[in-house]
Amino acid sequence: MAATSFALAACGGGNGGDDEASGGDSLVQRAQDAGSLKIGIKIDQPGIGLQTPDGGYEGFDVDVAKYIAKELGVEEGNIEFVETPSAQRENAIERGDVDFIVASYSITDERKEKVDFAGPYFLAHQDLLVRADDNSITDAESLNGKKLCSVRGSTSAQNVKDDFAQDADLQEYAGYSECLTGLENGAVDALTTDDTILAGYAAQNAGKFKLVGAKLSDENYGVGLRKGDTEGRTAINDAIKKMQDDGSWEAAAETWFGPAGYEVPQPPAIEQ
Ligand code: GLU
Repeated sequence: MAATSFALAACGGGNGGDDEASGGDSLVQRAQDAGSLKIGIKIDQPGIGLQTPDGGYEGFDVDVAKYIAKELGVEEGNIEFVETPSAQRENAIERGDVDFIVASYSITDERKEKVDFAGPYFLAHQDLLVRADDNSITDAESLNGKKLCSVRGSTSAQNVKDDFAQDADLQEYAGYSECLTGLENGAVDALTTDDTILAGYAAQNAGKFKLVGAKLSDENYGVGLRKGDTEGRTAINDAIKKMQDDGSWEAAAETWFGPAGYEVPQPPAIEQ
């Protein structure tokens, strides 16, 4: 249900706000006034942001989102989670469909032209996922001529084009779960994105896939919010810092990444 509210919210005018990007309208105030928050997440990435069969949401990003909401005075039950696919994140923020986004969202200079980021709250690395019996893909070079899947609007797809696999046959899909289906049925030879996401898929499908273990990039996950909302950014940074200091960050990271065999790194330093 929350997946469709993305489109619905776009025409509903949100929570009384208007379209002008006035500097005074901070998400901190909106959270206080409304007692609720709309938070963008992924819903098909196990360990990060996943919709469960009962309609709930779980994962590291979901825990980060809930922690921030709590610090902003919003109870868990008053969070509306909204699916924000990779290619739609900047737009969702700019349109006001969401108050902020926690969705394996890498901080980049290009994105910073449109949105602001709090954090970073996690450091991941781009990697490759292949079928368990495939020994032909061992690094970026061996992708030449292979069908490589990644997702539109992601840094993963962009890095392939700009940097390390320009001769791969890149197929850009709308979501990672579609790429995973393609990998399983042979439509593609490899799936590339953050190792966090790939580890989640490998763990969910024991024995079918394996990570290559190539650290192809640094992906610093940030919390995306409306450009110019300095108050919101500071409040979210404070929440992330507190989550790190009181042990909740590590507990959440171990809960969601540990079972997938993903070695939890040190929390990154927050850019104030
Ligand atoms: N972290 C990368 C990005 O923000 C890849 C994962 C994703 O698409 O969410 O583009």
